[in-house]
Amino acid sequence: MQKRDDVIVVGGGIAGLTAAALLAHDGVSVTLLEAHYQPGGCAGTFRRGEYTFDVGATQVAGLEPGGSHARIFQHLNLPLPGAELLDPGCVVDLADGSAPVRLWHDPQRWQEERQQHFPGSERFWQLCSFLHQSNWQFAGSDPVLPIRNGWDLKQTLAAIHPGNLLSAPLSLCTVKDLLTLSGCGSDQRLRRFLDLQLRLYSQQPADQTAALYGATVLQMCQAPLGLWHLHGSMQVLSESLAAGLKRDGGTMLLRHRVQQLQQNADGSGWQLRVEGPGRKEQIFRAGDVISTLPPQCLPELIVPQGNADQTPMPAPYRQHLTELVAPSGALVFYGAIDRADLPDDCPGHWQRDASDPGSVFISISREGDGRAPKGQSTVIASVFTTPKGWFSGSEAEYQSKKEACQAKIRSTVEAALGLSEHTWRHQELATPRGFLRWTGRPNGIVGGLGQSPSRFGPFGLASRTPMPGLWLCGDSIHPGEGTAGVTLSALMACRQLLAQRGQTLQLHS
Ligand SMILES: Cc1cc2nc3c(=O)[nH]c(=O)nc-3n(C[C@H](O)[C@H](O)[C@H](O)COP(=O)(O)OP(=O)(O)OC[C@H]3O[C@@H](n4cnc5c(N)ncnc54)[C@H](O)[C@@H]3O)c2cc1C
Repeated sequence: MQKRDDVIVVGGGIAGLTAAALLAHDGVSVTLLEAHYQPGGCAGTFRRGEYTFDVGATQVAGLEPGGSHARIFQHLNLPLPGAELLDPGCVVDLADGSAPVRLWHDPQRWQEERQQHFPGSERFWQLCSFLHQSNWQFAGSDPVLPIRNGWDLKQTLAAIHPGNLLSAPLSLCTVKDLLTLSGCGSDQRLRRFLDLQLRLYSQQPADQTAALYGATVLQMCQAPLGLWHLHGSMQVLSESLAAGLKRDGGTMLLRHRVQQLQQNADGSGWQLRVEGPGRKEQIFRAGDVISTLPPQCLPELIVPQGNADQTPMPAPYRQHLTELVAPSGALVFYGAIDRADLPDDCPGHWQRDASDPGSVFISISREGDGRAPKGQSTVIASVFTTPKGWFSGSEAEYQSKKEACQAKIRSTVEAALGLSEHTWRHQELATPRGFLRWTGRPNGIVGGLGQSPSRFGPFGLASRTPMPGLWLCGDSIHPGEGTAGVTLSALMACRQLLAQRGQTLQLHS
């Protein structure tokens, strides 16, 4: 039986595991409830015969010294998972007959590459670099965004550096505005490149991505940051955090699906109705709950208290959640091939523009990285899609749409990597239906709320909710999607929760 001061974390993806591990490390009695048979969520893996496929996330940011995962692992006194730095971090193929753009790790080499591809664009990159540097210092000082009370304000003020005052006026601008400001607004090829890259990180093209966010993600591949490929599989990130949680006395219960959240009548905590193994109903109680589920789930999840008709969720908040812009879904192709069929010096990640099925992000496993037998490689290719269209129509229509999409993605991969259609040793496709089953996300939606100027940072959805004792983190909360982003959202929610209890959680930069 949980006690009043216990914490329950709902969802065992990277956000939930990070939050639970941090709280357990701080001596809090914490239980993590995960619906699936394994933790990891969108950053999990599945096996098919001799292959291990990363379900969603394939590349990791934040493993460099001072990076978000690195800071958390250091704080938790856990060894950082083994990983290879990717150089180039990605190869971007505009599919227009020109040579692909290589995102080198060395800033000097990247400057030479971009000058060759986008002559005359240096003012744009310098502006991005200035914004990125001031943002990064700010982000590394753990601001609390959006601000909801005096404590949040104090944390954010403490994180502000002089550079932020210069970049603040650009907080309502988009990346397209930066292009115009730097005189590069008419460079169509640069615009296409930016649209491709920004869609990956913010689900939005350049004219809808907040300038301050875009400037940072456009420099994720370069030193002192970088993109990493985990040894073993993506699952090692979850396994390490789960090991830390267990070591520090926390509990992780798999196959436990939270079905209802009910606030105690006196507002002193929460009661959770949970479907456990064998569909057995169980009741859990806690003083605080951290939900990592997409916030779109909350209006259905939160039920009235006792006999009252009113849910504890204020009507404007409910309305805000129901009006959130619907995120994308994903189609993910999982294939396996012989390494001999790959081009020489094949990079770990390749992005290729295509009008149909849309731009494809391809991740190729490395020799000996634990995902495929010697001499073979897994090839994962993902495309954004509109989720709703995948849930209507008959089973036959669904299967034929799925087959057609699989063929289109496969042929885009073949064109990008110079493969033949007979190459494949294994192939399958996941649609939003599969993501719904795997992650429990409504309509199989993936990613956060998008990073437009009206929804990023100070204007986003807060981790502090109007319902006492209910906190949010995950990819819909600042700083947004990606394992490195959700890690920071978990840290923010834990700091707020502990501050409410009179405790301080401070990480070293
Ligand atoms: C195709 C794809 C590619 C991506 N590529 C990258 C990448 O290369 N790099 C990167 O950094 N990020 C990438 N991302 C994004 C990244 O995976 C996510 O932003 C991040 O993993 C989300 O973590 P989370 O903990 O917020 O949510 P989730 O991973 O969704 O975790 C939520 C957890 O809650 C559980 N759950 C759901 N409902 C319930 C319930 N009712 N009760 C209990 N548990 C429940 C789910 O089973 C799940 O484990 C990608 C995502 C996708 C889909």
